[in-house]
Amino acid sequence: MTLHGMNFVAGGLTAENSTTLTAVDPATELKLETNFHHASEDELDRAVKEADLATREMRELPVKRRSSLLRKMATEIDLLGDELIVRCSAETGLPVSRFEGERVRMTNQLRMFADLVDEGSWVDARIDTAIPDRKPLPKPDVRRMLISLGPVAVFCASNFPLAFSVGGGDTASAIAAGCGVVVKAHGSHPGTAELVATALTRAIAKERMPRGAFSLIHGPGATVGTALVKHPLICAVGFTGSRTGGTALIDAAASRPDPIPVYAEMGSINPVFILPGALAERAAALADGIKNSVTLGVGQFCTNPGLIVGVKSPQLSSFVQSLGGLMGSVPPQPMLNAKIYRSYTAGVEELKDSAEVRIEAEAEQESLPNRASAAVLATDAATFVANRQLAEEVFGPSTLVVEGASHSELIDVAEHLAGHLTATVHGSEADLAEYRDLVAILERKVGRLIFNGVPTGVEVCHSMNHGGPYPASADPHFTSVGTAAIFRFARPICYQGFPESQLPPELRDSNPLQIYRLLDGVIDNGVVNGQQN
Ligand code: NAP
Repeated sequence: MTLHGMNFVAGGLTAENSTTLTAVDPATELKLETNFHHASEDELDRAVKEADLATREMRELPVKRRSSLLRKMATEIDLLGDELIVRCSAETGLPVSRFEGERVRMTNQLRMFADLVDEGSWVDARIDTAIPDRKPLPKPDVRRMLISLGPVAVFCASNFPLAFSVGGGDTASAIAAGCGVVVKAHGSHPGTAELVATALTRAIAKERMPRGAFSLIHGPGATVGTALVKHPLICAVGFTGSRTGGTALIDAAASRPDPIPVYAEMGSINPVFILPGALAERAAALADGIKNSVTLGVGQFCTNPGLIVGVKSPQLSSFVQSLGGLMGSVPPQPMLNAKIYRSYTAGVEELKDSAEVRIEAEAEQESLPNRASAAVLATDAATFVANRQLAEEVFGPSTLVVEGASHSELIDVAEHLAGHLTATVHGSEADLAEYRDLVAILERKVGRLIFNGVPTGVEVCHSMNHGGPYPASADPHFTSVGTAAIFRFARPICYQGFPESQLPPELRDSNPLQIYRLLDGVIDNGVVNGQQN
């Protein structure tokens, strides 16, 4: 397919603005085919207005139409074939094999949300039936459920061009909730964005769904992205990226006359605590597992373990030595783009320049463009606690080992942490009992606790929580991975005293969708007042 570089505005292709951007292969720094047009103000406005219309239209359609659309989107993405992952690889410097997996994750996500919509109970229907003769006052009939919030702006993530981008979890969960979506492409992978947008647009046309359910626009975040967040009809924002970018969008959303939520996932150092029992049982396997997790995808995962904490001992020293040996032999690999590469090298240099931080290992340097060298640095707990900068994310294949002198210094390190997506504890069951205080602190600091595993490789499932206290995410109540991600784009509506015929199907006595509901305080998937379907 020849790329055209236009914006997708509610099923139409437009290029009103002559200013363009071009993708670059970070491995070679060569420009890739096609100039992509920045969205004009008018294109952006039309896309959002159509998304608003689509949200209203989807509210009137049977929910099965939404699940069919999500499944068709997955099918159309599959039909793009290998062209998608070849372009994706060229735009990111990551191997095609990585995107074979990420494509499956993206399409499985769409299908998983389709199943969620079909099952239907996610709307959290609650029914309190009337008690007209209650004393001293009658109890009214009150019914509540979740409905779509309104048009959603989605920002593609640089590090997940498929699973957290045009057809990724934000788009899938917003459409599942019944919201029209306007996606802002990431400047690093506009060609990938165009290919996925083509598939989603085809799916909408084939399913005869409202054309404004999906639009894709290109352009810089500071102008096009901010204008999208500030558009009066946008009701929520999904974002994965830097703290600077996320904070700018949160501020833009907060400065609107009607502030809206920005569900921003902004970075995490994912501390790994290694307790003595784990070192005694499996130090070599641990070093290998952590090396793989730190260097996976050239360290460009939000769950990358950037901090390793243990109590000083000969076993910890030999573990650090093994980790250093393994990391030092990892060949340099290209990062996603020159900006991310510069930020990584500057972050590692800053750590190296810090007094009392030592370099345990650094892989060879490579003269080819944007190649990141893996690194292990180390310091003691007192230095870490005294120096806030050491707790900042360095996005890439490096990790900082912090050695505590005692159990209580390990606790000091944990207390010092800000909000993160995950924390991992490696240990024996006896360790866990001895370090209950550590786990209690980590529960307050992160969104997901892992025991004897690695934080990378986030399972997409119903119980996943991919979020955490600020600054890991803007709102710790919500996840951006798994079916619970849908709750970001829905809000409760309560109907009091409505006749059966005028209630949404989810709240009718006859329960035609046979969903689970809280009926007078008891979970139930039956009918109310003996009504038949
Ligand atoms: P980014 O710079 O935050 O960009 C993400 C999106 O936000 C892009 O569409 C960008 O637009 C937009 N944006 C950035 N700054 C903005 C601003 N001031 N106002 C409005 N929109 C803005 O993130 P990135 O390009 O993906 O990577 C940069 C750094 O982010 C990395 O080095 C890393 O530190 C961090 N990062 C973290 C994670 C994580 O999950 N923890 C993931 C990815 C990146 P443009 O098109 O103008 O860039």
